[in-house]
Amino acid sequence: MGTRGKWKCLDCGHEFAASDGGGWLFSLYRCVKCDRTKEVTTRHEVGGPLIPLNPKETTMCKWYGGELRDDIGPMCRKCKSRNTEQIEIDIFYD
Ligand SMILES: [Zn+2]
Ligand SMILES: [Zn+2]
Repeated sequence: MGTRGKWKCLDCGHEFAASDGGGWLFSLYRCVKCDRTKEVTTRHEVGGPLIPLNPKETTMCKWYGGELRDDIGPMCRKCKSRNTEQIEIDIFYD
């Protein structure tokens, strides 16, 4: 399940809104360089990992060529640190 809410940077104190996590039918990937997110449709195997339906979709950011990953947190918009934590949840989605 994913969430949308408020995040805080532990390095500079900046607060910003971001989404994190995927849903039942997709994973949320984010670019290591620009932090744009991309929803990637996934297949669920019972008791197994989420498998992207189209693995090619998940490798690269089309804007900056950064690597897309689903295991990193939102990046601070101000100082680009990923030392961030969620301080408020507005919406749960799946
Ligand atoms: Zn920061
Ligand atoms: Zn990017």
